[in-house]
Amino acid sequence: MRGFFERLQWRMAAWMQGRNGVDGLSNFLMGAGLILLILSVIPGLDLLSWVVLAVLAVALFRSFSKNIVARSKENAAFEQAVQKPKRWLALKRKAWANRKTTRYFKCQGCGTVLSVPRGKGTLRVVCPKCKTETTKKS
Ligand SMILES: [Zn+2]
Repeated sequence: MRGFFERLQWRMAAWMQGRNGVDGLSNFLMGAGLILLILSVIPGLDLLSWVVLAVLAVALFRSFSKNIVARSKENAAFEQAVQKPKRWLALKRKAWANRKTTRYFKCQGCGTVLSVPRGKGTLRVVCPKCKTETTKKS
């Protein structure tokens, strides 16, 4: 039995040879498809299941596609598009995790997010990007 699974694994690996595989965009499409699938259970939203099928079909097509150049171009465009929201989310997460020790605020000159330790009285803060000076209660 073990030999069977080993051979199956080998066959799968050989079959995936030269194919795109799962990348960030495919993962995102799979996740979006699953969320839409759950939403399609709601009465009145049953047409959504066709959208789910289409989204999952695109995800599968991308994973098994042999046109790796085109797929990686699509993935790069996707990564470029989600770069800003991802960074924003990471910053929000960090600010929430450090909320008791660090105070976050935006620079009035350029909008860069700056941070000061909490409980140190009023501090003079100089933005490292635009050198704008502000005083902040920490
Ligand atoms: Zn600044």
